[in-house]
Amino acid sequence: MRLSSEKSRLLTWISILLIIGFLTTIIGSYIVSRDTIRQNVVEQALPLTSDNIYSEIQKDILRPAFISSLMASDTFLRDWILAGEADQTQISRYLKEVKEKYGMISAFMVSDRTDHYYYADGLLKTVREDEHRDEWYFRVRKMKTDYEINVDIDMANRDAMTIFINHRVLDYNGNFIGATGVGLTLDTMTDIIDSYQARFHRNIYFTDHDGKVMLAGKSMTERGRITDMPGVASIASSILNRDVRPTQLEYRHNGESVLMSSRFIPELDWYLLVEQNITDDVLPVRKVFALNIAISAIVSILILVLTLFAVNRYQQRLRLIAGTDSLTGLLNRQAFELVFRQAMLDAERRGKPLCAILFDIDFFKNVNDQHGHLAGDRVLQQIADITRNALRESDIVTRWGGEEFLILLKDCPLEQAHTLAEKLRQTIADHTFVLDSKNVKLSISLGITQYSSRESLPAFFSRADKALYEAKSKGRNQVAVSFSDSEDRRM
Ligand code: GH3
Ligand code: MG
Ligand code: MG
Repeated sequence: MRLSSEKSRLLTWISILLIIGFLTTIIGSYIVSRDTIRQNVVEQALPLTSDNIYSEIQKDILRPAFISSLMASDTFLRDWILAGEADQTQISRYLKEVKEKYGMISAFMVSDRTDHYYYADGLLKTVREDEHRDEWYFRVRKMKTDYEINVDIDMANRDAMTIFINHRVLDYNGNFIGATGVGLTLDTMTDIIDSYQARFHRNIYFTDHDGKVMLAGKSMTERGRITDMPGVASIASSILNRDVRPTQLEYRHNGESVLMSSRFIPELDWYLLVEQNITDDVLPVRKVFALNIAISAIVSILILVLTLFAVNRYQQRLRLIAGTDSLTGLLNRQAFELVFRQAMLDAERRGKPLCAILFDIDFFKNVNDQHGHLAGDRVLQQIADITRNALRESDIVTRWGGEEFLILLKDCPLEQAHTLAEKLRQTIADHTFVLDSKNVKLSISLGITQYSSRESLPAFFSRADKALYEAKSKGRNQVAVSFSDSEDRRM
């Protein structure tokens, strides 16, 4: 009993150590791998994409800025305004030429004298200071710089979202006489975004200064405000920080991890957001993690099985050395023979009587047959316990074999041995064994004999056996005595 609880404690400790050891290494390496991937995305992939997109925009905007500058310094355009805007077909032809030649979505000119807005098809409207849509013109009028980039809807082009380069036009004396420029469609940007998204599996989009999605690849269906978008909303305030340097952020959505690089683009008054879902990148690491766990579990089980096997063998050897029977904890026969020799020598020397009781459970086969071998084992254990309790400290009980037990009574005359045997018989006969929740009565048959001086061990035991046989043949559940030839039979 104690051995097996020590064994399970040992196995529990080994399991705990194995689990702690394996888990810390596996989890540690998982975290390192995952963080390396994450760091790579944060420090390289995202900023690179962001830089590339940023330079694409600049390229796309620089050319139109250059065209606007050429228009503003074009002598024809200035002369035509200064000459009183006489022939509208001239200016519209000019604007049409610019628009088509450079592939712009629109080309325009506003005269400060008349407030007329001209475009490729002629006169579009007259700008008014109180008109919200014309605000840009009055802003450009007061502007210190030569040009501005403005993202606005294009009235001359079905109100499509357009990037305008608005350039101030000055006369030959440097006085403001109007504004001119071109508008370019955002479609080009959408194409660039799509190609980047396809190439790098990144989601790229732009929001205005309030976080409203202005421009995104075709795959992005959500076009509201980032403050309302699931997942992104949690980091929206960190995105809208007007920082022109890239900000690295992370959010979770539907159990997936998304890393984001955000930067403010002052020329557009927009934010450029590049995000990457790293769940897929981390997937191989997760697979390795699961594989490691499985391998560790198998290795742990193997180690435990091997340990259990080794401990069992060791225990068996210990038992043999200790001479105890593993089922009942009683002395086994080999050990008993050693003990017997000692007791015999003692008895001889001190001239004290030495008796043996050999007993066998009656009809024990039936117990096994009716209730199973395990129930039989329990009966053997219980009978061993009852026997031990019925005896003195100095008496020796042995599991002689199968369901036979032998008791050696030191310093005990035959009468006393008989009394003891009778008492044991009675106790077991009175005892109720509970097998399969059924009450079962059992009995034992006992044979007693006394050791006679200089007798051999086999002779002594065979006499005990004879007595037992007699008890059995007389009907079981009784005690029989076998006397040696020299003994008095008057008992
Ligand atoms: P009786 O002694 O009264 O003549 O009848 P019995 O039924 O006891 O007869 P027998 O001695 O032939 O049967 C002994 C049985 O004890 C047979 C054997 O399987 C069983 N036995 C021996 N050792 C063990 C053991 O360690 N555990 C269990 N459960 N049974 C055992
Ligand atoms: Mg037997
Ligand atoms: Mg028997």
